[in-house]
Amino acid sequence: MAKLLEGKPIAEAIKQAIAQEVSAMAKKPVLASVMVGENAGAESYVKSQKKVAENLGIEYQFHKFAGDTTESALIEFVQKLNVDKGVNGIIIQMPLPAQIDYKKISQFILPEKDVEGMHPANIGRILFGKARMVPCTAASAMELLLSTGIDLYGKEVVIVGHSEIVGKPLALLLLEKFATVTVCHIGTSKAGKLEEHVKKAEVLLVAVGKAGLIKGEWIKEGAIVIDIGINRVADKIVGDVEFEAAQARASYITPVPGGVGPLTVTMLMRNVVEAAKAQNIK
Ligand code: NAD
Repeated sequence: MAKLLEGKPIAEAIKQAIAQEVSAMAKKPVLASVMVGENAGAESYVKSQKKVAENLGIEYQFHKFAGDTTESALIEFVQKLNVDKGVNGIIIQMPLPAQIDYKKISQFILPEKDVEGMHPANIGRILFGKARMVPCTAASAMELLLSTGIDLYGKEVVIVGHSEIVGKPLALLLLEKFATVTVCHIGTSKAGKLEEHVKKAEVLLVAVGKAGLIKGEWIKEGAIVIDIGINRVADKIVGDVEFEAAQARASYITPVPGGVGPLTVTMLMRNVVEAAKAQNIK
């Protein structure tokens, strides 16, 4: 029976370290959060970010724009934040309205203030093994995985999902640890090869958004399973992996909810503090 890999205790330990670091800083780090339009999910995410930030001594500036804001107006605002010496980090809340392309906006955020780690320069740093800002969900999955004490050198690692925010950065971070990394995606499933790859995994990380996609019986005995997926099924939140059956075979498994989720805001705040430190040194 797998041990549970819970995010909360790890998040608490990291938060303590961040709070200590912040209390020793001459100036409070400042995170500017930008939201466009109305969205209940994003509003609640903003509330939790604000609470965590303030508990850690980080100032949280919230900027809300109407749903019909143009892409160029948002870019102009981001550029103002870029040159504002009082702002250390910038986060753009998702989802954005259809007229605004997130990938385009993220290129306008100064890499030094890009606390979501989505600017091509920051992704490039991960590629070269010089990570500075790591996308928060990928960073959370890595923290959970490394908390097991695993030595990744030469391990068979399978990632399911190849998005820019999770699967691709994870693949780069794991290669940096000399794991043998296989990245699966919709094409793998369509080719009927998902099961075959998942069965090899000594470490399995899944970020798709399809409940029950990964069958419990596919899990290799003793594998570590990090389930990043979030799905609402009949008023319950579940991951992408069949939890009970997988737990019976794995050595460690993340619960959903309660695994990766509770860590992501903490990773965001860690990036804010790193950004502030780097900017104040200059
Ligand atoms: P995405 O839609 O950008 O990417 C989904 C990925 O899954 C793609 O690579 C796609 O090819 C792959 N895929 C789709 N169907 C598949 C199939 N049948 N078989 C194999 N692969 C398939 O999604 P995302 O933004 O990376 O998010 C993925 C999941 O992670 C979602 O459930 C999301 O809610 C969750 N998530 C959780 C957190 C967190 O904090 N816990 C943060 C971000 C995302």
